[in-house]
Amino acid sequence: MSLPTLLNTRSPLAPPAAQRARLDALPLARTFREAAASAGHEPLRPVAATTLQINVGKRCNQVCRHCHVDAGPDRREVMPDEVVEACFALLAATDIPTVDITGGAPELHPRFRDMVARAAGLGRRVMDRCNLTILTLPAYEDLAEFLAVHRVEIVASLPSYAGAMTDRQRGDGVFEKSIEALQRLNALGYGAPGSGLELDLVTNPVGAFLPAGQAALERDWKQQLERRHGIRFNRLFTITNMPISRYLDWLERSGNLQGYMDRLVQAFNPATVDGLMCRNTLSVGWDGRLYDCDFNQMLDLAVEASAPQTVMDLARGLITANPPPVSPVEALAALRRRAIAVGPHCFGCTAGAGSSCGGATADA
Ligand code: SF4
Ligand code: SF4
Repeated sequence: MSLPTLLNTRSPLAPPAAQRARLDALPLARTFREAAASAGHEPLRPVAATTLQINVGKRCNQVCRHCHVDAGPDRREVMPDEVVEACFALLAATDIPTVDITGGAPELHPRFRDMVARAAGLGRRVMDRCNLTILTLPAYEDLAEFLAVHRVEIVASLPSYAGAMTDRQRGDGVFEKSIEALQRLNALGYGAPGSGLELDLVTNPVGAFLPAGQAALERDWKQQLERRHGIRFNRLFTITNMPISRYLDWLERSGNLQGYMDRLVQAFNPATVDGLMCRNTLSVGWDGRLYDCDFNQMLDLAVEASAPQTVMDLARGLITANPPPVSPVEALAALRRRAIAVGPHCFGCTAGAGSSCGGATADA
């Protein structure tokens, strides 16, 4: 069966280097570095890491049109045991409070439950970036209960409360299964006031435009999902589509690329820069390499060469290729001295009200 991942269809934009080159070739009014400098960040640097975002691989049971990971059932990248162990050695040696597990569909990783249980056992806040439909697959029917037992915060993608819009972006039948999964989560207490079981939804525009205001959309979504399907949730995060991977491919093929990028540059909001997720999140790739964020990870933009390059290095306390090793805490501190790698795609995080894995970052 031919699946529409860029990799499988041998798209010229499948290689991350080709995506970077396409973006770099666009004539834009200014560079992201100049824009960040105008907001007082020259260069853009991190603060202390409060989230370890672990991308366990690119396998997914869905093939959504706008996927920034180019994930799908045909992808083979899966985080090996050595990398999983290094992530937990780092967590055990430091006090990073939040563990954010993502993919692909992270639940497909053979050690997903082990990772959740260990992170919860270390007293960390655990987040699962869930596509919802995974919870309805026969082999995963006890997964929702497992997540509730470990009090995992679920951040679930749902482009629209209108079925046709969601199916258009994520595939036929996805909306109906997503609703079934949300109802199952609600039955376990997710989204109920006072339950402590957080259920957040993530929406992104179905087209080449910026998301509408997050607070107004959240009110509308709460009313609509309650009225139509009896569904409750905690927060709605609006996310700007990042001009990378499958969305970049769509922008290119539909003739929207230059216009969309111009719109993002024009909508640059200096108030979003302080709250950029790359400043407080450390992103680990399936092979253990370190990135400033999940988007840089997909573009193969590694952390600055002078910083530790892998989570294995961090866990062993290796700041450079030349030992002597230090402690993981000192290695993490060394990583904090880096400049964040930026490019034209970064305008996706700073347009309008801003965009991050936790939604808008400022007022529009
Ligand atoms: S569910 Fe998420 S990871 Fe999977 S294809 Fe869709 S956007 Fe990509
Ligand atoms: S894509 Fe966004 S989060 Fe990543 S480095 Fe650029 S501004 Fe930061």
